Amino acid sequence: MSVSKDPNIQGVVRITSDLPVPHVVMFSGTHGDEVSGIHAIEKVLFDFLGGKRELLRGTLTLARVNEQAIAAERRYVKHNMNRMFRENYGPDIDKDSYEFRRTQELKKFLESCDYFLDFHSAPIADEPFLVSEQKAVEFYSKLGIPRIMTGWSRFSSGTIGGDAENYANAHGAISATLESGSHFEKSSNDVAYRTAISLLSLLRMIEGDELPQAVQADVFEMYSVVTKEFNDFRYAGEMKNFQFLKKDQAFAYQNGHPLNVPEDSYLLIPMKPRDTKVHEEVCYLGRKVPQLDSAPVAGRGR
Ligand SMILES: [Zn+2]
Repeated sequence: MSVSKDPNIQGVVRITSDLPVPHVVMFSGTHGDEVSGIHAIEKVLFDFLGGKRELLRGTLTLARVNEQAIAAERRYVKHNMNRMFRENYGPDIDKDSYEFRRTQELKKFLESCDYFLDFHSAPIADEPFLVSEQKAVEFYSKLGIPRIMTGWSRFSSGTIGGDAENYANAHGAISATLESGSHFEKSSNDVAYRTAISLLSLLRMIEGDELPQAVQADVFEMYSVVTKEFNDFRYAGEMKNFQFLKKDQAFAYQNGHPLNVPEDSYLLIPMKPRDTKVHEEVCYLGRKVPQLDSAPVAGRGR
């Protein structure tokens, strides 16, 4: 086992074993203020460097993604990097910006990996959950995280496209995004670290850890993106992630009109209206999909 850094790219560390596959990539700090993943991958790295763990097979690449935003303790400096992993860019993107250049140098890791996990957290206290596309749900449901959101890629040609997970997914990797809880609670760091270790254990890249407890994960399929179109957008009361909304229920108001759900739904990732710009997404709507049966860990689904 050896640990090295990419000579040409800052903030990327690679741990290699004698067997090159599988190649696992973990991103932290894609949003610079979401520190749980940064703590988690530092701890993973220290485990390997400090001799607590040995990489038995495969390659593990750990990256601190938006280093300028991490230093500034901000979500991003100029461009949201989780909208930048795409093939084509509109005129609104500053190609001289750090975030554009940083995205281009990190893309190759997503294009060449077998498994990808991106660590995020939320501004409000929240239960942990994973986001993954349908083909990866079965695999990631084994990490012990009880809720999985799916269906994101159906909307990815619009304003919410360009996330690292879907970029990796489009290039054949089994990919997920972890939302580990609140930015500000240590438990989020623990969830992120535990999830990283669970992934490596499931892939038999490390041993000695108990595999995560099998949970029957609830899977929620996103069917609508709600954008803030007017400055007066407000929720109809206190809203939590995965909050159940009865058909026809008004869950928010904007421009003086209620927003209703067309079917029994779940509110997904409600963001604070005051922190959301007009024409940006403010929340999503989803429906619960039938649970999947557990099955053995799948190999790479190319
Ligand atoms: Zn994030």
